[in-house]
Amino acid sequence: MTTKPRLLTGDTPTGKLHLGHWVGSLENRVHLQDEYDCFFILANMHAFTTRMDKPEEIRQHTIDIAIDYLSAGIDPQKSTIFIQSEVPAISELCFFFSMLLPYPRVMRNPTIKDEIRDKQLGDNYPFGFLLYAVGQVADILAFRPQVVPVGEDQIPHLEMTREVARRFNHLYCDISSHLADEEHLAAGGLFPIISPMIGRVKRLIGTGGPNEQGQLLKMSKSLNNAILLSDDPDTVRKKVMGMYTDPQRLKPTDKGRVENNPLWVYHEAFNPDKAWVSEAENRYRNGEIGDVECKKRLVDVLVALIEPMRQKRLLLEKDMDYVRSVLQEGNQRANAIANETLELAKTAMRQVF
Ligand code: ATP
Ligand code: MG
Repeated sequence: MTTKPRLLTGDTPTGKLHLGHWVGSLENRVHLQDEYDCFFILANMHAFTTRMDKPEEIRQHTIDIAIDYLSAGIDPQKSTIFIQSEVPAISELCFFFSMLLPYPRVMRNPTIKDEIRDKQLGDNYPFGFLLYAVGQVADILAFRPQVVPVGEDQIPHLEMTREVARRFNHLYCDISSHLADEEHLAAGGLFPIISPMIGRVKRLIGTGGPNEQGQLLKMSKSLNNAILLSDDPDTVRKKVMGMYTDPQRLKPTDKGRVENNPLWVYHEAFNPDKAWVSEAENRYRNGEIGDVECKKRLVDVLVALIEPMRQKRLLLEKDMDYVRSVLQEGNQRANAIANETLELAKTAMRQVF
């Protein structure tokens, strides 16, 4: 058993991981492995909320993301990678937690509203789609972590997690509803009240340009606007050369817009040569440098980041027995913690018979 503080975060297997994951969360995870006892959940049950008709695809993406983790530098000797559906205590906790959130409260969650709009779910989404927000509360609280590194879109889910933890501690652990968040555990509360840890880029925009309302969408697995951590150099080049930049700028001598332009957002996020970026941004604003030159630079920067991961991935794909053994061991470690939490929760709820 380790005495390191615990960290929980993860991904829904709706595709492979992309640059948004790297700057939003994955980079933090790789760096925090020594300091924290890390648990990374592959939330395959949540993938069913929008893709219940594609079970084989969900299975494949679950494995793909596990390989993405290992390729990006997650070390299974230090960290636990596990599959949500292999840890049933999470679902049991989800049922109890769903009683602690009023239905209108779930519907007010802005990330749920954004997802319904951006994934064009209309009003025809399954009941389980709403339940996933509570499911995520259970994914987190089952591990009673100190730290949860996520992208900005997850802040509303983290807020709901805090609310459920406070309510549980109040109803079942006799914690006063006026007690300060950081004092809950010391006073005998079961669940910590967790603040999110946000990555250095809160919300990386996608390559696709604005939607009908003029909003720039975040890079997302489901929106076909992502550069993947598994893309080969040729694919990266095609995606960058073809991506949206400043639609008003027709030739290199036109003045260009840098703000909210993926070309410059990505240079700022990924190019280590900060001096070149700030000088080139000025030249772009003044119509003194072409899109093509700046895009070519960006391709080099992104390939330098992605290619070592992709090479590692090619090796892992030849050793699936190893990947499966990492997941099996991870599931075991995750079950040990989540079962312990469920027992403690049932004891607090007086449901031990
Ligand atoms: P989906 O389209 O299925 O919702 P996604 O690309 O949004 O997929 P998730 O699995 O929902 O990815 O998110 C996993 C983690 O990565 C979350 O912490 C999320 O905040 C973070 N993340 C995802 N996309 C971005 C982004 N573009 N910028 C910053 N962080 C991101
Ligand atoms: Mg998402």
